[in-house]
Amino acid sequence: MISAFPSLTSVDLSRIRLSIRNLHPQIIEWRRRLHQQPELGFQEKLTSSFIASKLQEWGVEHQTGIATTGIVAIIKGEKLPTQHSKVLAIRADMDALPVQELNEVSYRSQHDGLMHACGHDGHTAIALGTAYYLHQHRHDFAGIVKIIFQPAEEGPGGAKPMIEAGVLKNPDVDAIIGLHLWNNLSVGTVGVRPGALMAAVESFDCTISGRGGHGAMPHQTVDSVVVAAQVVNALQTIVSRNVNPIDSAVVTIGKLHAGTKRNVIADTADMSGTVRYFNPTLVGFFKNRIEQVISGICEAQGAKYDLNYWSLYPAVINNIAIAELVRSVAEDVVETPLGIVPECQTMGAEDMSFFLQEVPGCYFFLGSANPEKGLAYPHHHPRFDFDETALAMGVEIFVRCVEKFCN
Ligand SMILES: [Zn+2]
Ligand SMILES: [Zn+2]
Repeated sequence: MISAFPSLTSVDLSRIRLSIRNLHPQIIEWRRRLHQQPELGFQEKLTSSFIASKLQEWGVEHQTGIATTGIVAIIKGEKLPTQHSKVLAIRADMDALPVQELNEVSYRSQHDGLMHACGHDGHTAIALGTAYYLHQHRHDFAGIVKIIFQPAEEGPGGAKPMIEAGVLKNPDVDAIIGLHLWNNLSVGTVGVRPGALMAAVESFDCTISGRGGHGAMPHQTVDSVVVAAQVVNALQTIVSRNVNPIDSAVVTIGKLHAGTKRNVIADTADMSGTVRYFNPTLVGFFKNRIEQVISGICEAQGAKYDLNYWSLYPAVINNIAIAELVRSVAEDVVETPLGIVPECQTMGAEDMSFFLQEVPGCYFFLGSANPEKGLAYPHHHPRFDFDETALAMGVEIFVRCVEKFCN
């Protein structure tokens, strides 16, 4: 958490190369422009035409309209490769959230009820800055960089359709990196680790059908509220009694609705929940176990159930070698003693995981909170905002990863 790190009003940018420091005001301008026009997943039309217009202006080769609004920019390094040339992909998400912005800033959202409350405007601006820099300095690296601007990370997920559309092919991507601006870490820090960074997410809806009746005559009914209460409690034992305590997992029932009046026994009860875990060997486990628990309790109580269960995103699992590449680069960019946070892990989810299932890669957190500037609200909060100093750090880290990986 933020309190674990010293807070600061400004970050030392001396390790950021001059040309990126000079580009920084423009990256901030792009970010603010994008912040003013947030769009939901697969509707990022203004966002994607803004990106395309910039790439066009700079003469960067790119393809638009991938999985609706996705874009891939291709930058070919012109340095002579020592071995066969490598292909590195950089992924940025572009979508916003259905949140009404409460920030009173000059660049506040102009789209009522929509907001870049997760920082994807920053991710897009960093990726654009990286594209601009690499295109200008293409003599400094060998190999090819693909910059993937992805729609709909907040759901239903744009990574999978982009992969299906072939963005990792022709030329075939050897590795992929991506970052999330992260207000759980102070600006000036980077969270990177090999292995699991973010959790797999699965969801379910369940309707329990009993038999309603008079609140004074329960013997004539099957009380769906009592059955649902047993189910909610019993589902908590899946994590505490069935999952290996070395593995982390969550089963949360976020919604439970039943009944209309205090003297009426409810006919049905509806519940919805979310499941999170890191260990890929648990794929399928929760779906089966949740159904067993619900079915056993309903059987015992004479109720029926209707369960719908979905797998959304797999866990974000970083490759050891690529995570080490990012760590070693970040160590040279961020100011000591803030540095690297290796123990960062979250039960949040990200569809970057689909890319990481296809090619080795690393997703990492770029610290962006600055409590002294009032920039420490959590992601998805109507007052979320971040320290824009992080934008230059993001570009520097991406560029150094390209130089180190491709050369
Ligand atoms: Zn988010
Ligand atoms: Zn996000």
